[in-house]
Amino acid sequence: MRLDPSAILKEHELKHTKQRVRVLEEIALDTAAISQPELEKKLGKEIDRVTLYRILNIYEDKGILHRIMDMNGTANYAICSPSCTEDHHHDEHVHFNCTSCAKIYCLEVNAPKVKMPAGYTAKTINTTAYGICEKCNSSKVQ
Ligand SMILES: [Zn+2]
Ligand SMILES: [Zn+2]
Ligand SMILES: [Zn+2]
Repeated sequence: MRLDPSAILKEHELKHTKQRVRVLEEIALDTAAISQPELEKKLGKEIDRVTLYRILNIYEDKGILHRIMDMNGTANYAICSPSCTEDHHHDEHVHFNCTSCAKIYCLEVNAPKVKMPAGYTAKTINTTAYGICEKCNSSKVQ
């Protein structure tokens, strides 16, 4: 695992709790983002919904996780790039939403720069590509 939950909590001056570590561990398991319902299902025995929700909010505020809405409007969470900070997210990469397995991947490609018209200040631009992911493509019968 490339991610050390304890080190991340320390770096962001967050209190070390077992539940906080568990959330990060669970999210770091897969290369794909994880949806909130899936997290609830996996951690439901250890962490109640309200606590989980609170932990996710803290992580998003601190620049540890970013939220991606999928095509059904469900929140998905992925680990941020190291350049994200408390007030500013720098996750200007493309998200890929697979229409077959419904998973969301953070792709290491830069989102195209969009020039805003005068008077508009964009804080975040979400670029999501829809299609078939690598896994689904390779599992197809040739
Ligand atoms: Zn971020
Ligand atoms: Zn897929
Ligand atoms: Zn992402």
